[in-house]
Amino acid sequence: MSPNTDAAIPAALAAPDAPDAPDAEDWLVDAALAPLADGSLAPLYAGAAAGELTLPFCADCGLALELEQRACDGCGATDIRWRPVERAGTVHAVTLVHRREPGLVRVTEPYPVVDVELTSGHRLIMTTLTATGSAPAIGRPVTVGFRVVGGVAVPAAALSTTAALSTTEPSAPTAPTDAATPDSPRATGTAPAPVPSETEVSQ
Ligand SMILES: [Zn+2]
Repeated sequence: MSPNTDAAIPAALAAPDAPDAPDAEDWLVDAALAPLADGSLAPLYAGAAAGELTLPFCADCGLALELEQRACDGCGATDIRWRPVERAGTVHAVTLVHRREPGLVRVTEPYPVVDVELTSGHRLIMTTLTATGSAPAIGRPVTVGFRVVGGVAVPAAALSTTAALSTTEPSAPTAPTDAATPDSPRATGTAPAPVPSETEVSQ
C-alpha cells in the first residue's frame, strides 16, 4: 500500500532511523512473538520497516484514528488513510512491568510500557527502544524509533533530546521543548508513580 503523502513530510522526519538489521535480536521478547506484518496493521509495519511511523486517519475528516478503528468517531466514515507522521510525542502514561518468567520474555528486570501521545494526535502504546529498569517521567518528550522482533520492525520510544525534536517544517505547531528545564511542571525526572503490574504487552 502506498501511503498518501499530500501533507509534505519534513525531510528531517523522513526515515532518518531505519531499523536495525532484521536478524538482530530484540532486547525484550523472543522472535516468536513477532507481530503479523501482513495483517490489518500492514501499513504500520511496512512503514516501520522503512523507518517511518505510519498511522491511520479518517479519509473524510482527517481525524487521527486508533490502530484497529474501523469507523471515525468524528464523522462516522469508514474510509481510512494511512500516512507517515512526525515521530515525536510525550509520555502520557507509563507502566513499569515487573515480570519474571523464563521463555519468550527475555528480560528479568522490570521494563516500561509507555503510552505515547504523538504530535499527530494519535496515542500509541510501546516499550522503550533499549532496555531500562525505570519508567520515563510523565510528560517527557520521546521520539519514536523501532525495535526489530523476528524481522518485524515495531515502534519503540526513545527518550528525546531537544535536538531530536527539532523540525524543519516552518508551519509545524511544535512548541519548543523544555525537556532540559528542571522546573518544568511535569518533567519531574524522578521515580515513576506506583503502577499496576498486569499490563499486557500487545506487540
Ligand atoms: Zn472522520
